[in-house]
Amino acid sequence: MNAAEWMPIVAVAGAIGLASGSFLTVALDRVDSGGTILRGRSRCPSCKKSLRWYELVPLASFMWQRGRCRSCGTAIPLWYPAIEATLGLALVGVLVAGALGTLLPPPFRDPLPLSPALELPAFIPGIADLLYYGFVAVCGAAIAFYDLRRLLILPQPTWALAALGAFAHAMRAYQAGSVIAIVPAVAAAAAIFGLFWLLWFLSRGRGMGRGDADVAFALALAIGFPGSIVAIILAFWFGAAYGILALAFRRIRWKSEVPFAPFLVLGAYAAITIATTAALWTGTYGW
Ligand SMILES: [Zn+2]
Repeated sequence: MNAAEWMPIVAVAGAIGLASGSFLTVALDRVDSGGTILRGRSRCPSCKKSLRWYELVPLASFMWQRGRCRSCGTAIPLWYPAIEATLGLALVGVLVAGALGTLLPPPFRDPLPLSPALELPAFIPGIADLLYYGFVAVCGAAIAFYDLRRLLILPQPTWALAALGAFAHAMRAYQAGSVIAIVPAVAAAAAIFGLFWLLWFLSRGRGMGRGDADVAFALALAIGFPGSIVAIILAFWFGAAYGILALAFRRIRWKSEVPFAPFLVLGAYAAITIATTAALWTGTYGW
């Protein structure tokens, strides 16, 4: 495929990412204020005025309005466009990785039996993988941004990730005709949960939150083995690098509570990217 054929596909993936980011900002705000996620119109959190459609265009509205509400002029928090941009990029990344045919761990490494039956176009090598990693991106962003904002782990996206991972492993065992194929991934996820639980227990919740163990477990299950191990090691490196820099620039103190889930999500995405790059270099498939 050449660039001209690629552009519309990349644009659609980016648009879906931006739209899910936009939905996510609203959903997180409503969870925060104890409201329902799916009902009611979007409002300015400050002046409560209903937003028109042209105030809801991801990124563009923020830039056009110079980051302020059109009615009351209250500054729109920066994390709104940040979530939208993150998911836009994540979904484009997932699509490019998928379309390059390097589709990743664990679940659908072999083409789904579904794909030939649906006669999917040849340039979509694994629509299931795209949906899979798109969903991982959305849940990961929800967990990371909520933890950054409130130092709390949202249970819904965490358990959604774990359920998705469990489903993928069940599929894999079914395709392989044996549960032995999924033992390493499940054992690694259990060991990772144990490690984080211990860190929480031994530090009496100061070094690590109890929710971080759930997030680490859910991500490990979703990305499989050995990616999960790579992801956790990278998460600690990212966390340590941030801690050293933040201390050096006096942004935090020794006893500050720093959210860890964003580093776990970042580690997971870095691990997926490494697998893709390695597959491109070596011409192999997956982990
Ligand atoms: Zn307003």
